Amino acid sequence: MKNEKSIEPGLAVIIVGNDPASRVYVNGKKKACAEIGIYSREYALPEETTQQELLDLVQKLNQDPQISGILVQLPLPSHLDETDVIHNIDPSKDVDAFHPFNVGKIMIGDFDFLPCTPAGVMELIAESGIDPAGKECVVVGRSNIVGKPQAMLLLHKNGTVTICHSKTQNLKEVCRRADILVAAVGRANFITADMVKPGAVVIDVGMNRLDNGKLCGDVDFEAVKQVAQAITPVPGGVGPMTITMLMRNTIKAAELQHQK
Ligand code: NDP
Repeated sequence: MKNEKSIEPGLAVIIVGNDPASRVYVNGKKKACAEIGIYSREYALPEETTQQELLDLVQKLNQDPQISGILVQLPLPSHLDETDVIHNIDPSKDVDAFHPFNVGKIMIGDFDFLPCTPAGVMELIAESGIDPAGKECVVVGRSNIVGKPQAMLLLHKNGTVTICHSKTQNLKEVCRRADILVAAVGRANFITADMVKPGAVVIDVGMNRLDNGKLCGDVDFEAVKQVAQAITPVPGGVGPMTITMLMRNTIKAAELQHQK
């Protein structure tokens, strides 16, 4: 795809090992690139790849002018150091926005990239005509890739934000205060209807694979939809938005590198 400035965005996706969920996510990302005309290149590395081999590839892609964005599909096999890999991605190609440079920029509200999942959640909220300003926003989960940046983005939009985690006391009461409730826990049907304030907006980030192979969110969708004003489904809610935000970040990365 050549955009109006004749910049061609390119995404490199690195996957290590044979995790079936990672394979599904990588296929979804490649398909999205193909659909909108972004050049993409996949590096499928064997499980026994060493840290140095992975870092060498990242360095090579950092220098590759055809590649504007580098995505390392997580989780990596346990013998590899994810933090070290992320720290070695050129921040201007860090389309997941996991590099500390980009994390810091998000914290101060002056960012080039937003992490894809929280950014997708903010788009869903905005497109639904919901303004977080002054609202009680509760994020359940505090991971570096979802919960923490999600809370920060809601704060940037002037929400009054509470972050919950496994040590939170009275979780039900805290969740019931929420006008906007974001669940990013990783436990099927964890958020039940009695934890939701009538009329709340409920965003389900969770992606849990049930024993029968079905994908299911963190929210008990059927029960919670009876009390919520708006609710996102799984599959079909935050997941596709995450991929869309990755496409947006890749185009942004291409533009940034063009300006260098
Ligand atoms: P993590 O496992 O890194 O974090 C889970 C968080 O949930 C932790 O902060 C943990 O608290 C908290 N938690 C666990 N149990 C409880 C509990 N009983 N009460 C309150 N909080 C609890 O997960 P991620 O943030 O990476 O992902 C969360 C979910 O989102 C997963 O299902 C994942 O698959 C999904 N996901 C979906 C994406 C998408 O594109 N739709 C993208 C990324 C993730 P503590 O910190 O105290 O341990």
